[in-house]
Amino acid sequence: MGSFDIERIRQDFPILHQQVNGKPLVYLDNAATTQKPVAVLDAVNRYYREINSNVHRGAHRLSDLATREFEAARDTVQRFINAPHSHEIIWTRGTTESINLVAQAFGRNSFRPGDEILISAMEHHSNIVPWQILAQQTGAQLKVIPVHADAELDMEAFSRLLSERTRLVSVVHVSNALGTVNPVREIVRQAHEVGARVLLDGAQATPHWNVDVQTLDCDFYAFSGHKVFGPTGIGVLYGRTELLEQMAPYQAGGEMIEKVSFSGTTYNTLPYKFEAGTPHIAGAIGLAAAIDYLAQFDREQLLAHEQRLLEATLERAGADPQIQLIGRARDRASVFSFLLEGAHPNDVGTLLDQQGIAVRTGHHCAMPIMDQFNIPGTVRASFAFYNTLDEVERLFAGLEKCKTFLL
Ligand code: PMP
Repeated sequence: MGSFDIERIRQDFPILHQQVNGKPLVYLDNAATTQKPVAVLDAVNRYYREINSNVHRGAHRLSDLATREFEAARDTVQRFINAPHSHEIIWTRGTTESINLVAQAFGRNSFRPGDEILISAMEHHSNIVPWQILAQQTGAQLKVIPVHADAELDMEAFSRLLSERTRLVSVVHVSNALGTVNPVREIVRQAHEVGARVLLDGAQATPHWNVDVQTLDCDFYAFSGHKVFGPTGIGVLYGRTELLEQMAPYQAGGEMIEKVSFSGTTYNTLPYKFEAGTPHIAGAIGLAAAIDYLAQFDREQLLAHEQRLLEATLERAGADPQIQLIGRARDRASVFSFLLEGAHPNDVGTLLDQQGIAVRTGHHCAMPIMDQFNIPGTVRASFAFYNTLDEVERLFAGLEKCKTFLL
């Protein structure tokens, strides 16, 4: 287990060492996407330079090597989230596609009028719109678990909304807009009591700690490679074998079939039934490299470092009456969502960018929760383990400058 040396860690991320707008880059947009360590860049590069080939089909050496690495990457993901079986790991393009896959392959053929789908008011659009479409397609009803003013889920309302009509509960593990960490273990327990299945959107949880799908006991778990220090365009859906077996294919084409004839087609076994077409081979290999990179650390230590950054941030913000904090959940990830009183979030973002500080501004693909708080959006600084206390200082110095221009 390597010890925690922030300067050494930062050397692993070449992109961090550059000037943006004439200032050293302060990258605080990690909830949107994370930066990639050299290990990931090298793995992708080596794949294309040395073994690029299509998987599962060629009768030649390179195809065999590519297939082995691609499947080894699946095993790496299996261990990463402690899934019981490697065939329960489905490659997708990301969290969005994973959720759409469940909506269409699990819900479309089996949900009926009178069935209910439960989501929460703090969901990302990718965990709202697929269910709205499914509700239109099937006549099932979409119900929403309210969120308290402090940005915590209303668990009493959740218990009341649950019934034997509930077919699926789909909630975010960690909110990207507010940082709230939801009590997902309890949500799964209660949902299973009424016979409902549970999908967890883990896009913002996997970057911060090791998720264990068996401890969570969830039925589906979705996350994106690019938020966990891996490449874009690759993501994961974990699903329980018995559910994946029952589900219809999502997309159709090569790879997902066993036998095709004009009188009928039979489908491939898991996980290939859900992986039509040539997959993102380099992406899978790059994601496995990211997971291997993380494995050298004690992730508890990395998380503790992020939490120190968050605490320092909240302390600074709490002492500034002009900063309005959005989201005050007790259990939260290193996301600082806020408004500078009297300034539009976009203007704050632009002025911070001029100082080399990258944050995100806007509704963070979570318009309903912004509506609930009656705001157009927020400024969001989100930390990864490679951020530093010095960068927190840079952020607040940057905000002081914003005030002189904007207020
Ligand atoms: N859910 C949450 C909580 C997210 O933060 C994001 C990305 N912002 C997504 C889903 C969608 O992820 P992707 O765009 O990688 O599919």
